[in-house]
Amino acid sequence: MQIWQKLIAYIKKKRDKGYTVMVVPNFQGTTKSLNIPFFLTIFLFCLLVANFYFLFRYPWRLLKISQQEQKIDQLCDIIARQERDLKQINPSIEKTHEMEERLNNTNKLIAEIRETLNSILVKAGQSRSASRGYAYRPISLPSYNLSSADNDLTRLEILNANLEFVEKELEKSEERLEKLYADLKAFNKELDYTPTIWPVYGRITSGFGYRIHPISRKHDFHRGIDISARKGTPIRAAAGGRVVRANFYGGYGWTVIIDHGYGYRTLYAHNRNLVVRQGQYVSKGQVVAYSGDSGNTTGPHLHYEVHVNGKPVNPTTYLWQ
Ligand SMILES: [Zn+2]
Repeated sequence: MQIWQKLIAYIKKKRDKGYTVMVVPNFQGTTKSLNIPFFLTIFLFCLLVANFYFLFRYPWRLLKISQQEQKIDQLCDIIARQERDLKQINPSIEKTHEMEERLNNTNKLIAEIRETLNSILVKAGQSRSASRGYAYRPISLPSYNLSSADNDLTRLEILNANLEFVEKELEKSEERLEKLYADLKAFNKELDYTPTIWPVYGRITSGFGYRIHPISRKHDFHRGIDISARKGTPIRAAAGGRVVRANFYGGYGWTVIIDHGYGYRTLYAHNRNLVVRQGQYVSKGQVVAYSGDSGNTTGPHLHYEVHVNGKPVNPTTYLWQ
C-alpha cells in the first residue's frame, strides 16, 4: 500500500514538470525551444530502449533464420533419401518370401538326408543309432492384411518382422544341420570299427550255420565262413581295433582275434603265420596274418568269424567292400 501511495505522490509531483530542449544555432538565427512533458520523456526513453533492443536482436535473428534454413535443406535431402529407401521396402519384403521358400527347400533336403542316413544305418545293422531326426514341415512367414491406409512405415515393420522370423528359422536349420553332421561323423567313425571289408578276396567254400563237418562228417554249427585263399595270401583286418588274441588256438591253428569296440569282434583262423601281437592296435585293412592250413583243416583257406556282443553272426552280412 505504501509503495502505491509513494508512486502516486511521485507522479503528482512530476506531472507538471518536464524538460525543455533548446536548439541553439551556431550562426545568426533564433534559438528554438521545445517543451517536453515528463511522461513524454519517459515514453521517448522507453521507445529508444525498445529501438536498441530490436536493432541488436534483428541481425541475431537473421543469423538464426539462415542457420535454420540450412537445416531445412538438409532435412529435405534426408526425407528425399528416406522416401527412396522406403520404396525399396516392397522388393525387400519380396526377398523375405524368397528366403522363406529357400529355407523350406533346405529343410526338406535336411529331412531327406536324415532319412537316407537312417536307412543306411538300418542296412548297416545299426538301427539303434538311427536318430528320429526331424520330419519336414513347411514354415511360412506370418501373414498380414494390408489396407490402402497402411503406409510405408507399416511395411517397414512387416519387413523387420519377416527378417526376424527368417533369422529364427535359419538358426533352427543350422542346428538340424549340425546334428546331422555330428551323426554322420559318428557313423563314419563307427564304420572304421565295423568289419565291412573282406579280409581276403576269394570263393566262399563253406557258409555260416549248420552243416556237415568236412572232417568229422557230423552235423555241426559253422561259426563263420571259409574263404578260399592260397597259402601266403595277406589276411587283412576287416576293421580297426585291438588284437586280443594272436597265437596258436587249438583246432583254429594260428589265429588272430580283433576287438573293434561297438560290440564287434572278428576272428581269422588257419593262418600260416601271424604278423601282429596281442594288445596291438590295427587299422582297417592292415595285414594281420598270411593264410595257410594250420589247425584242423582240409586245405589252405581263411576261416573268418564275426561276433556281435559275444555271439557269432553271419559274416556275409558285413562283407560290403
Ligand atoms: Zn570254417
